Amino acid sequence: MKDFLYRFFQGRYGAYGTDRLTRSCLAVAVILLILSFVTPLGFLYYIAVILLFYSYFRLFSKNIPARYRENEAYVKITDKFLDFFRNFKYSWTQNKAFHIYKCPNCSQKIRVPRGKGRIEIRCPKCGNTFLKKS
Ligand SMILES: [Zn+2]
Repeated sequence: MKDFLYRFFQGRYGAYGTDRLTRSCLAVAVILLILSFVTPLGFLYYIAVILLFYSYFRLFSKNIPARYRENEAYVKITDKFLDFFRNFKYSWTQNKAFHIYKCPNCSQKIRVPRGKGRIEIRCPKCGNTFLKKS
C-alpha cells in the first residue's frame, strides 16, 4: 500500500507534501462543510466541495511549476496580510506606551514614553528642544 502510494504520487505535486495553499483550501473546506450543516447556509456545501476538488487537483497535478507558482502567489498575498496585522498590533502596543511627537523645527518624529508629565524633548536630528506633556 505504501509502495502504491509512492508510485502514485511520483512526479505529482503532492509528492512534495501539502503546501500552504492546499492546506488553506482544505481548512476552509472543512469550516464551510461544518457551517453548511449547522447553519441554514446550505450552499456553502458546494463551495466546500469545489475547494476539496481543487485541493486534490493540486495534489495530483503533474504540472509542478504551475502549482508552485500558484502557491508562491498565495504565500505572497497572505504574508502581506499577516504583516499588516502584525504592524497594526505593534503600533497599537507602541501607542499605549509611547507618544509620538514631531519636532517643530525639522518635523522628525520622536518617540517619548507616556506618563512622565511635562518634559523637555530634545530632537536627536537637529538638536532643537521643545516642551511637551507626555
Ligand atoms: Zn528637529
